[in-house]
Amino acid sequence: MATTNVWEDLISGNALFASGKPNFIQESNAEVSRREKLATEGQQPRVAVLTCADSRVSPELIFNKNLGELFVIRVAGNVATSEAIGSLEYAVMALKTEAIVVLGHSKCGAVTGAMDCKDSAKKETALDRLLGDIAGVVGTCNSVEEGINKNTTHSARQLETDSTIIKDAVDKGTLKIISAVYDLHSGKVQQV
Ligand SMILES: [Zn+2]
Repeated sequence: MATTNVWEDLISGNALFASGKPNFIQESNAEVSRREKLATEGQQPRVAVLTCADSRVSPELIFNKNLGELFVIRVAGNVATSEAIGSLEYAVMALKTEAIVVLGHSKCGAVTGAMDCKDSAKKETALDRLLGDIAGVVGTCNSVEEGINKNTTHSARQLETDSTIIKDAVDKGTLKIISAVYDLHSGKVQQV
C-alpha cells in the first residue's frame, strides 16, 4: 500500500472514532487469536506515532487501531527527545514502518506550561528541562493554538535533522513524516 494510503487509512479510522463508532475490537475469539498471532509471528506496524502523554490522547483509540498496528512513543508535549528518536529509528530500521505521525493536540498542558514559563532558564527538575525545551520552540507564539502547531511541526522536522536513519528513509521515499493535531472536543485529527 502506498504511503498516502496509510494516512487515508488513519483518517478513515479517525472518522469512525470521532463519530462515536470505533470498531477495532472484534468479537472475543478474534481478539484472542489476533493476540496469539502477534505474539508468535511478531509485530509489523506500518505506522509509528510520536504523541503527548495526555490521557485524553490515545492513538489506538483515536485512529481506530488494534494491537500490533501502531508503534507509539509518548512524551509530554510530543517532544522529539533522543530516546523518542532512538525508538523511531528502531521502527524505521527493524520494523520497516512506512510513516511517522507526530501528533500534537488541543489544550496541551505541556505547551501551555511552556508558554506560561517565565523563567525558561530554570532547570532544577526534569520537568523544568522538558518545559524549557518546548519554551525554546514556542516562546514567540501569540496563542496556545499557534504554539501547539509550531511545537508539532518542530518535532517532525527535528526527526530528520537529528537522525540520519530517518532522513535517509525519507529521502529514499520509504518513509513519510506527517504532522497532525488532534482536537479534544471534536475527536478529529487534522494535518498541520
Ligand atoms: Zn499534551
